[in-house]
Amino acid sequence: MIVFIDRQHAGKPNNPEDRGASVEPLSFGLGLEAMYTGYLSLMIEEKLLENGVKVIPISDGFYADRHKRVNEYSKRFKNEEQVYLALHLNSGGGDYSSFFHMGSTDGADLASAICDKVREASLPGLVRCLPKKCSSGDWTKNAWYTIKGVGNPIAICCEPLFMDTHRDLLTMESLRSIASAIASGIISWSL
Ligand SMILES: [Zn+2]
Repeated sequence: MIVFIDRQHAGKPNNPEDRGASVEPLSFGLGLEAMYTGYLSLMIEEKLLENGVKVIPISDGFYADRHKRVNEYSKRFKNEEQVYLALHLNSGGGDYSSFFHMGSTDGADLASAICDKVREASLPGLVRCLPKKCSSGDWTKNAWYTIKGVGNPIAICCEPLFMDTHRDLLTMESLRSIASAIASGIISWSL
């Protein structure tokens, strides 16, 4: 299996300073979304590598161009299962964790497998984890936009927590638990 991990809100040609959502600065990660997803991306990568899963990190370009690049790389791994993760953290007062897919059976199964592991991690405030189909025509369109161009790999937009509601989870320890749950979900889905 191969997993493409995209730290979004960084390396955007039209907005190089973008770091996504923010909360009042914290000593760890400065309260910036793309700082925490940066840590998460490495933690997920480490856990996957430990389990023999190949990882290709992506973090530069317009999202549409990243998707094209992933589709190009994807051809080299034709006989393997492939996953693409767009890493984000939510904000705006929600009280759940969510993993968005494009509506395929594989996408729905993968998002559910990740949510099962997030629930098992028993982090305060994240017992409600929603696997959700995203589309261009409703409130899920922002999630849809982050993965819409990905072809063969099963694409998931990860929004594991709300930075404002789950501010207490913005620690190295909690991020590691979340990363571990995401990696374990992907591995259990692939078995
Ligand atoms: Zn975001």
